[in-house]
Amino acid sequence: MNEASPLPPFSAVIVAAGKGLRVGGDTPKQLREYRGKTLTRHSLDALAAAGADPIVIVHGKIDEDAAKQLTAGLDNVLWAAGGATRQASVRSGLEALAFASPDRVLIHDAARPDLPQSVIARLVNALDEHCGAIPTLPVVDSLAVAGDAGTMAGKADRDSLRRVQTPQAFRYKAILEAHRSWSGALDAGDDAQVLSATGGSVALVDGDERLKKITFAEDFMDQPRAAPYRVGQGYDVHRLVEGEELWLCGVKLDHTHGLAGHSDADVALHAITDAILGAVGEGDIGTHFPPSDPRWAGARSGQFLEHAVNLAKQAGYQIGNIDLTIICEAPRIGPHRPKMRSELAKLTSLHPSAISVKATTTERLGFTGRGEGIAAQALVSLSSLETAL
Ligand code: MG
Repeated sequence: MNEASPLPPFSAVIVAAGKGLRVGGDTPKQLREYRGKTLTRHSLDALAAAGADPIVIVHGKIDEDAAKQLTAGLDNVLWAAGGATRQASVRSGLEALAFASPDRVLIHDAARPDLPQSVIARLVNALDEHCGAIPTLPVVDSLAVAGDAGTMAGKADRDSLRRVQTPQAFRYKAILEAHRSWSGALDAGDDAQVLSATGGSVALVDGDERLKKITFAEDFMDQPRAAPYRVGQGYDVHRLVEGEELWLCGVKLDHTHGLAGHSDADVALHAITDAILGAVGEGDIGTHFPPSDPRWAGARSGQFLEHAVNLAKQAGYQIGNIDLTIICEAPRIGPHRPKMRSELAKLTSLHPSAISVKATTTERLGFTGRGEGIAAQALVSLSSLETAL
């Protein structure tokens, strides 16, 4: 399947009629701000960008201003009234599309704002061969069956189980008929179950972890971590002494003196490491590699930097660029600059063009001017790993 090719035409129903009580506060969850937009607007934008037309929002009571604001700049949005249950709300949205009678429709919960275009494409395309398609994820945790008194009654086989997300995609006529003929005695868990009850085949396509449901207030509080850019700065000093090796940026330099310290005392790598740790709020180099720990005696400082790069990645960030200044009277840094940049590129997986190594003296002033030590300062920028949705 080529996800880059244009999608067949489809419509969408966004179910935004829930009360969202677990989030707390007065504003319903779907109208609360999340990463700069209301929860529902995220889904609207993602579906509109994929070409959904028209898009029905199934909503509870909403005042006119909020409704206008929610759909500002979009001209293909319709409204439908929410029902007493999710299923009644979905049916209301589907009935609102009857005039257009689209071939394909996506039904999505507003509580899942991060909707990747790739998932939409997989779903819409899967309808070539099936009446329905749902995004699913494998179960990664092991499973237990809960018995009485909070004890384990048995295990469940996770291999045959999948976690189901939305949007769910359907042939419009098939899902509308399925909803109309549903007995109503039972509330279905989701629309795929409604379709399945009529014998329609439902394809499982790959879901996406980003599609997680926003349920609790903490999910909204998660936001600062996803700032698109971060910066960090680091500063370090080591003493110059006789009889030590001189390491700067992971490169060994010939010099009369070397830097003293617990590790290899590579003051430049320490400054860069601290800058990265600072950008992601992970303490400083001493937090992660305490000088009291004999493991780091004489250690190559490159591993400290690699560790910081990994921590940034785990926090959802990649390094954009590094700007380093080495402050010393001697040795001269210029001749070693290309080697230093390529060594830093290796340690950080950056292109050398994203790495700047500068040097300055202090005009013979202060400890660096007297050759008693070398100082280094670094600035780094980080950008969020979240790809454009
Ligand atoms: Mg240091």
